[in-house]
Amino acid sequence: MSFFDGIPVAPPIEVFHKNQLYLNEKKDNKVNLTIGAYRTEEGKPWVLPVVHNTEVEIANDTTLNHEYLPVLGHEGFRKAATALVLGEDSVAIKEDRAFGIQCLSGTGALRAGAEFLARVAGFKDVYVSNPTWGNHKLVFKNAGFTGLHDYTYWDYQNKRVHIEQLITDLENAADRSVIILHGCAHNPTGMDPTQEQWKRIAEVIKRRNLFTFFDIAYQGFASGDPAADAWAIRYFVDQGLEMVVSQSFAKNFGLYNERVGNLTVVVNNKNVSAGFQSQMSLVIRANWSNPPAHGARIVHKVLTTPALHQQWNESIQAMSSRIKQMRAALRTHLEQLQTPGTWEHITQQIGMFSYTGLTAAQVDHLIAEHQVFLLSDGRINICGLNTKNVEYVAKAIDATVRT
Ligand code: PMP
Repeated sequence: MSFFDGIPVAPPIEVFHKNQLYLNEKKDNKVNLTIGAYRTEEGKPWVLPVVHNTEVEIANDTTLNHEYLPVLGHEGFRKAATALVLGEDSVAIKEDRAFGIQCLSGTGALRAGAEFLARVAGFKDVYVSNPTWGNHKLVFKNAGFTGLHDYTYWDYQNKRVHIEQLITDLENAADRSVIILHGCAHNPTGMDPTQEQWKRIAEVIKRRNLFTFFDIAYQGFASGDPAADAWAIRYFVDQGLEMVVSQSFAKNFGLYNERVGNLTVVVNNKNVSAGFQSQMSLVIRANWSNPPAHGARIVHKVLTTPALHQQWNESIQAMSSRIKQMRAALRTHLEQLQTPGTWEHITQQIGMFSYTGLTAAQVDHLIAEHQVFLLSDGRINICGLNTKNVEYVAKAIDATVRT
């Protein structure tokens, strides 16, 4: 007898499961297009040089210690992260209507934000894009949301944002629904709304009294310019919308396992900040009590030291341009092979991912016959491609599509 008799085995988390299958694979032609992490041309993880150098400086700084941070996190980091997403000259920052709360990477920011909205502010319904990142619904459900809904995002036939149905779905959402929007580089489709489409989304959110929850996990990866990638968020702020924004520094600083994140909050009346922050302190106190310092110190120092900030921008450029080259290479190979179907979406899509349009059966075939590992919805991490394997992957896709 156990207290835990009868607990069924949960299904594996696909992205980690597929990554493990890749690691277990013996054949050396294998290619890993699963997990959303940057890889170099050599297929290796990348410690950004500016991050490494800053870590060394921090390690040698004898004024620092391992005392607890405040519950809401590292003051300088919170400010720097908020300014990165809203812009240094944001009117919301100037009017003291915006503040940051350090969280455990993007997931922790989503969780703290969701729990605050559900338990403190009484929101019940949340809408996520269909499709979306696999963890959104689980986070919001566990945080106390009872109404978990989808809004249409993807036009599977034409491989683009289904803007008309998206707007209709938002029109029909209940008053005070929370709408999760991917700030840039939508995961998994790699396709963001155009500026005109964002304007329509903001308009319906405002008119229908919906609440905006931006999730920005790839700032810098879409265009190579972190400011340009925050355009939609800044536009919403300019429209006077209140919002929370979960920010992850996993991808754009390569700090995946340091769990560096921030929840930027924008309110319409600075007088509500004290209530918000004090209640949020209790939410965080009951979760992780206070956040880790190491990654936050790195991000703070880099963002607030102009020379280091410039080096970081260069690394973002290097990562995003390698991704663009690999998109172009994959598309060119597929078109040269005259692989059935159309492949221009591979270069139209942006950020780390491409939503290839491959079916679940084709994905299984690619894994079993060619050792090319990807998610069952056809999402590939473009960073897993390099000049040595891209032709092999194109040939594997070609052979698979033709079977
Ligand atoms: N949101 C989206 C859309 C993501 O893709 C990810 C990472 N895969 C996250 C949030 C959170 O990642 P992390 O917790 O590692 O910062």
